[in-house]
Order: sequence, then structure tokens, then C-alpha cells
Amino acid sequence: MSTFDSVSHDVIGIGFGPSNLALAIAVREHNERAAQGGPGRVDALFAERQARFGWHRGMLIEGATMQVSFLKDLATMRDPTSEYGFLSYLREQGRLVDFINHKTMFPTRVEFHDYLEWAAARFADRVRYGTTVRALRPVTGENGDVVAVDVVAADGGTVGRARNVVLGMGLRPRLPAGVHVSERVWHNSDLLTRLKTLPELRHQRFVVVGAGQSAAEVAEHLHTTYPHAEVCAVFGRYGYSPADDSAFANRIFDPSAVDDFYDAPEHVKRSLLAYHGNTNYSVVDIDLIDELYRRVYQEKVAGRERLRILNTARVAGIDRLRDGVRVQIDHLSSGDRLPVECDALIFATGYEPADPADLLGELAPLCERDGRGRPRVARDYRLVTAPALRCGIYLQGGTEHTHGLSSSLLSNAAIRAGEILHSVLEHRAAHDLHDGRAPLAAR
Ligand code: NAP
Repeated sequence: MSTFDSVSHDVIGIGFGPSNLALAIAVREHNERAAQGGPGRVDALFAERQARFGWHRGMLIEGATMQVSFLKDLATMRDPTSEYGFLSYLREQGRLVDFINHKTMFPTRVEFHDYLEWAAARFADRVRYGTTVRALRPVTGENGDVVAVDVVAADGGTVGRARNVVLGMGLRPRLPAGVHVSERVWHNSDLLTRLKTLPELRHQRFVVVGAGQSAAEVAEHLHTTYPHAEVCAVFGRYGYSPADDSAFANRIFDPSAVDDFYDAPEHVKRSLLAYHGNTNYSVVDIDLIDELYRRVYQEKVAGRERLRILNTARVAGIDRLRDGVRVQIDHLSSGDRLPVECDALIFATGYEPADPADLLGELAPLCERDGRGRPRVARDYRLVTAPALRCGIYLQGGTEHTHGLSSSLLSNAAIRAGEILHSVLEHRAAHDLHDGRAPLAAR
């Protein structure tokens, strides 16, 4: 028996968020076609750290809406007839007509999360929840080439052996250097969980750092939920800036934009990211900006200012108090320092992709990096590796430097999943030809 014959899975996906869920759907739909005589079945298994499916649960703020059209769901862009699209979910819930009457492209995050859970539930047998993957261990063939990978869990057990691994581990909360999470200092990703256990407010004040969509949503939520508390929004820019969601700029998220970006020289890539960063980063939905401004103005009229915008400012120090936090806030133009005592300090300071190097371990030296130390990634999201690494390692996320702004976003998840599956199938067919085995279609 060759090593390949003992490989138990074509694909093991690490992480089961929307990206790998979209892949699971693409694989199942492929297998349904395979059962009717298409190319051979693909066996895919997924490992997920969380005990159950969840996507940014800590930010499922009541009333917050998606920033992306519901048509950019897990499947529709790849196959509008898929039964895993948002519209199929609505029909099953008996809300299709009501949703249509609603005349919106942007459902609430709570509803969209329910859709994701609905889809994930249909793959329960393919996901090992509560499983943290610690490492990928190479499996070598007779000539010393790495022909498969053992996916090793934190408890030392093996999730499985696979010829392809798809890393879809999502984004990690980013905190400013030197800031550590504590009982009263959080990243916004934990907002709702932390609020549940926050003791009674002693200072009646929150400080929120950042001027992106998360920061604005957190400020709005705290201001609404705690009607006696002051909310101080601290950020470096002069005011919240609107997300550019206009039609031409939005084309930067099109599937074809990935081709354009991928083929562009490095300096063009950099300028595209700079030109269109304001479709996604450090920007806020214009309706929310207007709502926050309306509140600031109304409070000025009423003579009690509870939503305070501390712009052109930064946090210069944090002291723990017995019943709260003292935050030193520097006003950048005057140089004045303002000490503010609050019940909780929330950093809405963005996210960064998980570094695949943490998992690659012994495989890392076989994976190529560019001149700036970033992974080299082929158009099909497969890491560029030394020839001796013959199995596929694919990235879902962490490819902004090669594939552009949509690399970790939902906008392109359905298409990306289809492209990765296509690549897995092509490599398998090439391998079978090389080994003189019957082509897939004949099996
Ligand atoms: P973000 O857009 O990256 O914004 C991060 C903010 O933190 C920026 O204002 C940034 O300021 C600031 N910041 C970063 N590092 C800092 C530091 N060391 N000190 C002080 N400030 C710092 O992050 P986000 O708001 O979390 O949004 C991330 C993504 O999630 C976006 O795609 C957004 O649309 C999405 N999102 C969606 C929803 C929704 O669907 N309803 C809700 C929330 C977020 P600078 O600009 O000065 O760097």
C-alpha cells in the first residue's frame, strides 16, 4: 500500500468559520454531482476550536446590519441555484416573502449569523468541534518527499491524515503594543460576553478606542444600553469617516478584481490597497455616522453631553483601579493630557490574520516567502512550496498581499471556495495520471 492509499482525507480544513463552511458546501455539491457521474468524490473533514459554530458572537449587537449584500452568502456567487444560499434559508424559516417586503440587501448580523448556523448544522458530521489544531506533521513517502500531512490536535491526538490542508482560521483581535486584556480592558470582539459579567457601574463611563465600524457600533451600543453612562470615543483622526460602498469602488471586491490584483506588479498592488482601503478599514457606515452625530447634537441641545468624541487623541496610559480603569488620554494637537476614570476600556483597534507559520512547524522551511517575509501564494490560494512538499496547503485569509482586499472577507468566500476545490481536484487528477491510475472520472 502506498502512502497515498493510506491517506484518509482529500482535505482537512482547519477552522470552521464562513470560509471553510463555504468550502464544505462546495465539496458537498461537487460530491452530489460526482454521484451522478462527475469527477470522483472529495472527502473533506474540518476541525474547529470552538465548541459549536460561531462567527464574531461577541459583536452580534442587536440591530447591527451586515456590511455586505446577502447575495454574497456562502454559495450564491459560485452557484445561484445552490440550496445553501441565504434565500433558501429564508424560505425554510418561512420568511422569504417578509424579507422581500423589507427591501433590504443588508440583513441584521443576528439574522445572518442564524443563516450561517443553519448551514453549519448541515455539516455537523464533517466537523470536529472543540478541537484546537496544534501542528501539521509531515508524512514522507519512499523518496523522502512530503506526500501527506497529519493534522495534530492540542491534546496530542490526530484529527486525520490529508493530502490537502486548508487553513481558514479567521482573524485575530489586534491590540496596541503593551495593552493586555483584563477584567475591564477588552477588545471589542469580546464586547457582549464581557458586558454580561461587568459589575454594576461605579463610574458610569466607558472609553472606546478606534474609529472603524466596530468602534462606532460599540459606542452606539453602550450609549443606548446604559442610559446614564457617558461614552468617550477616542481616536486619532478628526472625525469618523464613511465607508466607500459606491458601485465603482465596490468592484474592488469582484471575483475578477482578484485576477487583476494578483497579476499586478507590487507597486500597483500597494497603490490599490491604499486607494481602496476606505471600502473596508477605519471607516464607518454613513447611516451610523449620521446617527452618532444626531445624538451628539441632541445632547448639546439638551445640555447633557453623554456621547463625547475625543478626536485627534490617543490613549497614553492605563492604570488599574479597584473598581475601574483610569485612562490617560492625550490630545494630539494641544498636547494636553486628560485623565478619565471609567468602568471599562474597549479597544476596537482592528484585526489581523492568523500567521500560518504557527501551525506549519516542520513544513515551514519548505514554504516559500517573498522578499518581505510574507508567504508566497499561488492564484489558487495554494502556498508555493519546494517540490519536495507534494501536498497542498491552502490559505483562506492572510492573502491580502497577493489577492487583494477581499482575501479574508465574506464577499468572495463562495467563489474562493470553488477555486480551492477546483485546484484540489486538478492536483489530484495530475497525481493520478503521474501514478498511472485511472483518471478520476473513470473511478
Ligand atoms: P478597522 O476598520 O481596522 O479599524 C480599526 C480602528 O482602530 C481604526 O480607527 C484604527 O485607527 C484604530 N487603531 C488601530 N490600531 C490602533 C492603535 N494602536 N491605537 C489606537 N487606535 C488604533 O477595524 P474594525 O472596525 O474592527 O473593522 C474590521 C472589519 O470588520 C471591517 O471590514 C468592518 O467592516 C467589519 N465589521 C463589520 C461589522 C458589521 O458587519 N456590522 C461590524 C464591525 C466590523 P487608524 O485608522 O488611525 O489606523
